[in-house]
Amino acid sequence: MTVIHVALDVPVNRLFDYLAPNADSADIGRCVRVPFGNRQLSGIILSVSNLSSVPERKLKTAGLIDQAIPPLPQSLLELFEFCSHYYHHPIGQVVMNGLPALLRKPRHTTSRLPKQIQEWILTDAGRIITLSDIPARSKTKRQLFSLLLENGIITADIYKAMSPHSRKLLHEFKDLGWVEQRTALPGKFAFSTASTPAPTTEQAHAIAEILARIGTFTPWLLHGITGSGKTEVYLQVAASLLAQQKQILVLVPEINLTPQLEATFRKRFPNTPLVSLHSGLNSSERLQGWLQAQCGEANIILGTRLAIFTPMPRPGLIIVDEEQDHSFKQQDGLRYSARDLAVYRARQANIPIVLGSATPSLESYHQARIGRYRLLQLHARAISQAVLPAIHCIDMRVTPAQERLSEPILDALRQSLDQKQQSLVFINRRGYSPVLLCKSCRWIATCKRCSSRLVVHLRNRQLRCHYCGDQQPITPACPQCGDPDIMPFGHGTQRIESALIKQFPNARILRVDRDSIRHKAAWQTMLDTIHQGKVDILVGTQLLAKGHDFPNLALVCVLNADSSLYSTDFRAEEHLFSQLMQVAGRAGRAHIPGTVLIQTEFPQHPLYLALIRQDYAAYAQTQLKERKSASFPPFVYLAVLRAEAPVLAEALEFLHQTAAIATIAKEYAHIQLFDPVPATMTRLKGLERAQLLIQAVSRKCLQIFLSDWHQRISALPARSKLRWHLDVDPLTL
Ligand code: ADP
Ligand code: ZN
Ligand code: ZN
Repeated sequence: MTVIHVALDVPVNRLFDYLAPNADSADIGRCVRVPFGNRQLSGIILSVSNLSSVPERKLKTAGLIDQAIPPLPQSLLELFEFCSHYYHHPIGQVVMNGLPALLRKPRHTTSRLPKQIQEWILTDAGRIITLSDIPARSKTKRQLFSLLLENGIITADIYKAMSPHSRKLLHEFKDLGWVEQRTALPGKFAFSTASTPAPTTEQAHAIAEILARIGTFTPWLLHGITGSGKTEVYLQVAASLLAQQKQILVLVPEINLTPQLEATFRKRFPNTPLVSLHSGLNSSERLQGWLQAQCGEANIILGTRLAIFTPMPRPGLIIVDEEQDHSFKQQDGLRYSARDLAVYRARQANIPIVLGSATPSLESYHQARIGRYRLLQLHARAISQAVLPAIHCIDMRVTPAQERLSEPILDALRQSLDQKQQSLVFINRRGYSPVLLCKSCRWIATCKRCSSRLVVHLRNRQLRCHYCGDQQPITPACPQCGDPDIMPFGHGTQRIESALIKQFPNARILRVDRDSIRHKAAWQTMLDTIHQGKVDILVGTQLLAKGHDFPNLALVCVLNADSSLYSTDFRAEEHLFSQLMQVAGRAGRAHIPGTVLIQTEFPQHPLYLALIRQDYAAYAQTQLKERKSASFPPFVYLAVLRAEAPVLAEALEFLHQTAAIATIAKEYAHIQLFDPVPATMTRLKGLERAQLLIQAVSRKCLQIFLSDWHQRISALPARSKLRWHLDVDPLTL
């Protein structure tokens, strides 16, 4: 008998066996329809054998194996398996999560594809033809050819609008070898003669280094200040690999927010098929782009985190831009980190990977410092006239303010308005739990067991550790300097927008947040408005910090950044530094020197001191030292088990049960299990949430432990009465 082992989208971590008399190993990676209960499901064949743990008479027969699309390559199947294993997520769900939705639907694939449209591009042979090679009397011919010379392409849209005669001429050109036809790829192609700028010395060095190790797995950390021209490094390395017919995968945090990068790639490589894969596509566009990558037709694949699962027959390079961005980690379902999987894929394919950032994640920076990654640095801005902005802190303890807006900031905004320049008011809006802080000496209440910051629970006058569960009463005075004026810190609702409107009634103020840009079109309109100079003051959160050029932006004001300094989230400071460097980078990009003003009650805080000097390295070193002494990543490895139930006690009880069966942990000195605790945001969507933190000295220890423990948890009777999941390498705790 021939048995196929199929990955199905069901929450059980195993494959399902079916009889498939005609199947053979060439069907591995193909899509198949199978009966499942009283339904029909689509699945992917992961292996073929003549064995099954199910008795033959109980095996059902599989339906149609889809031969229309090529099978998923072995390397992708391996990636899925790794992912399932590493993140402890059912294999079938991992596979289905990674595939375009339409591949999972019952209908036949080809009918799901958008109609193939053809476009015509000028060949190299065509490029050297001049108009004088075409007889002057052939007017239409000359016209058509000059159009080609100018644009390099007859797009599908133009072709559709052309007369039958012109179409015939195009076929003639084709017979002469002047043009070739190809399937139009989704998205527009701009033909451009954009020239490649000469790289700066630092860029040239980075490019040469990367190119020197092109055929081997080499992880590069490209650390370059904003405006240093990291993109140019990507482009020139990419050019070299594209010339070798290799495929390039570029991952970006949020594609709606980085249309500039897509446009840049399209402009630089107008004749290279590029697909862009992101959540804004409809499912047939997505499928088509994915198939074009899979069959090797698309050479550049640009996408958000999900694009890490794109099959590529000829991978040559992976780029992860803004590698520190948290959106590379999926926060539900399969909680994978696309950046980490990108490194896995690069190793698997034996190719280089470039992680680019102005403020690398401490994880990546640490890897570079210990020599696992190679560090490349760009210290100078690429355009020589562009100077770094001047950054100043405004000491809020001594500066007069109106409705939380200090006078220097109001003055600067007024001046900016007078000079018809744009300003950005950046609001740090992450909600954190309050901590106990002494404003005189900056002592902060930390947990004795795990050195994380304690959260103030005013109701029962307790301080509680949200990592390990330890509790203690609120101290009446600062234990370090005796100041009795010790207080919970971190609260603070912001009414800044309305205060601004009151202060500047005639200014055009635009607020940009996640809600206002939900749609790509809305975002584009907003960008246009900003670029056309129709906005005086932009008010926004982190979204505005990300990769945009606002040429007329001269002033950036940062408000209530302090709450991130004293947050219970150990990553909050890292995140703040990165964001402030990014917003600072928005100011004075072109020829206007920029100014950044930060309101703070802690002007002497090391983070601000490093920021003023724009010294990432110094900052990262102090942070890494703190992380090391407090045993936080990247010096330890974490996982968190979360449970949700209608009543908190149930969730906690379940976690206690899981802790009790973690026997292996006791034999394993390298693993530490903390007590179950209520989550920082205990109540969410009607459910109460609790969590249990696991800490390990190495990734390997953590994996060995989790594999065993996860199986035990999956056998607990209580497991099916509530919702629970394991988050490996969590970003938020
Ligand atoms: P980053 O991504 O590192 O913040 P960008 O890639 O946006 O920086 O580059 C900043 C600006 O410098 C862009 O306008 C880019 O076109 C320009 N630029 C980059 N490299 C060069 C170069 N070698 N010569 C001239 N201009 C450059
Ligand atoms: Zn004190
Ligand atoms: Zn603790």
